[in-house]
Amino acid sequence: MEHPLRTLAHLCLEIAGLAVLASLATLVAAFHVFNGFTSIDAQTAILFCVGAVFLSLVALVAYAAIRIARLKAENRLLQRAATRDGLTRLLNRAAFQGRARDMIAAIGRRSSDAQALTLLIVDADHFKRINDRLGHGVGDKALLTIATTLAGSLRRDDLVGRIGGEEFAVLLKGAGPEEAKIVAERLRSTVHRLAVGPREAPARLSISIGGVSFDRPVPFDMAYRQADALLYKAKRGGRNRFEIAPFALPAPARTRRRLTGTVNAQAMPKARI
Ligand code: GH3
Ligand code: MG
Ligand code: MG
Repeated sequence: MEHPLRTLAHLCLEIAGLAVLASLATLVAAFHVFNGFTSIDAQTAILFCVGAVFLSLVALVAYAAIRIARLKAENRLLQRAATRDGLTRLLNRAAFQGRARDMIAAIGRRSSDAQALTLLIVDADHFKRINDRLGHGVGDKALLTIATTLAGSLRRDDLVGRIGGEEFAVLLKGAGPEEAKIVAERLRSTVHRLAVGPREAPARLSISIGGVSFDRPVPFDMAYRQADALLYKAKRGGRNRFEIAPFALPAPARTRRRLTGTVNAQAMPKARI
């Protein structure tokens, strides 16, 4: 990418070039209008000056408009490249986190946003085996297939991104634990119908999912950790399955001393959904 100062220098040079061209064109036109500068009357001179300034301005504005439109298009491309994953074209990790944080912070801010959200972490099962058996190319195709399936199975308001090698994240809008379980089951069963590799020996795909639901703003990192822990519970439970639970508030820092004098750590309260 070109340094901003270089871009500015180029723009200044282009405008200076345009000014030189406009001056030369004005000089040539003036030479003809005023018969080689032998007959100059005031009225023609005034009209000529006004016309020359007007035409120069039109040329300058047209040039600036074209240049700005081109810069905007380049900017859009750069923005897309910075926020999208190269293989699947889904949001990349940083972009997903940024947008998820905004959606979480917006819970309850407006009445239309007073909805539960569920963060799902989706991980392809035994993906290393697919790479090892069928090669990295087929592995990439499998990731693309999973990404397309996830994106195609969600609503427009939901967020989906690729947050790691064979790991994806989804933020479901307006979904508490029960609705999220329905969505997770749909994602799981749709992916499990897919296969990659040769027709005679295909590799069936499957995903495991961990998710947490919340209906008030919670720290993204905490929600991510809890969803990740549930993902590993799903893996330990045999894979090709999901585990979804309400977000668990952290235990209070202070413990309460009972009258008996023993210290009793409070149980972790669950968020109301
Ligand atoms: P588990 O069910 O426990 O998640 O097993 P796994 O094999 O999916 O998990 P593991 O973490 O052992 O391996 C992940 C594999 O994903 C290893 C890595 O080569 C592969 N992988 C990560 N990114 C890509 C990618 O962009 N393309 C391909 N083809 N493979 C990838
Ligand atoms: Mg995996
Ligand atoms: Mg993984």
